Amino acid sequence: MEERETLDIYKETILLYLGWGTSYVNKRFQGLEPWQVAGVTVVATLLAVWLHGFIFKQQSISSRLRKFFFRITRKLPFLAASIQKQLDKALNDLSSSVLTLEDGMTYVTSLPAQGLTESDLLTKVKEYSTMGEVCWEKGQVSGTVYSGEEKLTKLMVKIYGDFAWSNPLHPDIFPGVRKMEAEVVRMSCTLFHGGPDSCGTVTSGGTESILMACKAYRDLGLERGVKYPEIVAPVSAHAAFDKAAHYFGMSIVHVPLNKKTMQVDVKAMKRAISRNTVMLVCSAPQFPHGIMDPVEEVAKLALDYQIPLHVDACLGGFLIVFMEKAGYSLAPFDFRVKGVTSISADTHKYGYAPKGSSVVLYCAKKYRHYQFFVAPDWQGGIYASPTIAGSRPGGIIAACWATMMYMGEDSYVSATKKIIDAARHIEAQLKTIKGIFIFGKPEVSVVAIGSNTFDIFRLSNAMTSRGWNLNTLQFPSSIHICVTLLHTRSGVADLFVEDVHQSVAEIMENPTEKTTGRGAIYGMAQSIPDRSLVTEISHGFLDCLYSTELPNQEKSHLNGDSTQH
Ligand SMILES: *Cc1c(COP(=O)(O)O)cnc(C)c1O
Repeated sequence: MEERETLDIYKETILLYLGWGTSYVNKRFQGLEPWQVAGVTVVATLLAVWLHGFIFKQQSISSRLRKFFFRITRKLPFLAASIQKQLDKALNDLSSSVLTLEDGMTYVTSLPAQGLTESDLLTKVKEYSTMGEVCWEKGQVSGTVYSGEEKLTKLMVKIYGDFAWSNPLHPDIFPGVRKMEAEVVRMSCTLFHGGPDSCGTVTSGGTESILMACKAYRDLGLERGVKYPEIVAPVSAHAAFDKAAHYFGMSIVHVPLNKKTMQVDVKAMKRAISRNTVMLVCSAPQFPHGIMDPVEEVAKLALDYQIPLHVDACLGGFLIVFMEKAGYSLAPFDFRVKGVTSISADTHKYGYAPKGSSVVLYCAKKYRHYQFFVAPDWQGGIYASPTIAGSRPGGIIAACWATMMYMGEDSYVSATKKIIDAARHIEAQLKTIKGIFIFGKPEVSVVAIGSNTFDIFRLSNAMTSRGWNLNTLQFPSSIHICVTLLHTRSGVADLFVEDVHQSVAEIMENPTEKTTGRGAIYGMAQSIPDRSLVTEISHGFLDCLYSTELPNQEKSHLNGDSTQH
């Protein structure tokens, strides 16, 4: 009885409002001709559609507003000139460090009219191979060269030679390379505990592996009816995910980290999931601080929401799979964790293969199909291609295969043990130095250093002047060393610790002193609110990598004192 009454009240209220509404509209439209009524309706509808489109673009309205604001401010007369001056200076500082020709050197800008003789060529090439002052052979560079062992170098060069002309695009002509690629993928699947349906492809590097996984999940998402495919990734995830979003018309949501552990904040990740989310990302470990993300927890989210999960093990993939046997246990990170659907791992990092090879692996073939591209109607024939490249370097695949076979499990495990031993030693020693701290609990090969007392980029400067080449990181400011086999040579790790020790001691004499040189550029780059300026400087830097102009008087004249260090 009572329920009936409430219902009646609702009904009456609705009818009342409806009555008001209709009489209001009727009054407004009074005296209008029917075509006018129809016209107003059409215009109002179009306006509503436009407004909806304007507000709900792929890029959020706030980020569009920000860009608009910065675009206007850059046009203000005084500001524009000042900004331009600073841009030029920053670019000049950066470019002078890569455009280092010795006196008398010139650029080749056209083909030699007659080809060089072999001996002339070998003399000429010596000029190039001996350029540069940084000595990676001595183990003073973070990451970059992961093995450098001479016997392995000779071997991979020989095997590259045997397959230099081969191309897996033609498996009928080069069946051996096809078999090698299949075996590299299978060996990798086995290392990451993939089941019988697990699969993958060899790619040209970590970036391509990541691009391929994102492309696959984008297409899967589109098939499931997602309109604007979105990647949900930790802020610490590699920039290749941003590149994938950029290339493939996706957007990327960056999830913050737990400030203490530097692992992705799983609760924040859960909140970041929307109906547009086509993939989740974890790193094992992430590049900036070398921290393993909580793969198991994120995998639970992935299962709950039925979203694929990519584990980026590009950096440390060929360490973490051997760590248990090397005596270091890790939380599960591979296909044994339900919910992990794909993994990227770089053979050209701790797999010790030559640059230009990586693998992307899937737990099941149904995912890999979304990675493939087929043009069934091409005049050149049915064109089916597994990755971005068409023709691919069979020689690199062969050298990668050879490296894995040459190393075998035993050598990988012992290399891993040496590297992790060295990284833990460095970490423990650095923790005793006052004035600096280590980010989170690094379990693999990267150790990241910060400071609450002084600008950490001063330490970067000081280490550079001692011959080291470390990575500089931002948001928050930090530097890291990525330990490779070269750092496990006798005395190298201790020399590193000693040099940090001395550098910090020097800095601590005057902790608030201003940062100069390169370190100052890193600091400045972080503080520019208009990120499009940083992009612009970077474009200039990239241009300068392709420069074949000698630094002439005119240029240094124009930029005044900015070329000085
Ligand atoms: C190096 C790296 C990549 C990308 O690899 P490239 O081979 O440089 O393309 C991706 N993720 C992580 C964590 C890396 O360290």
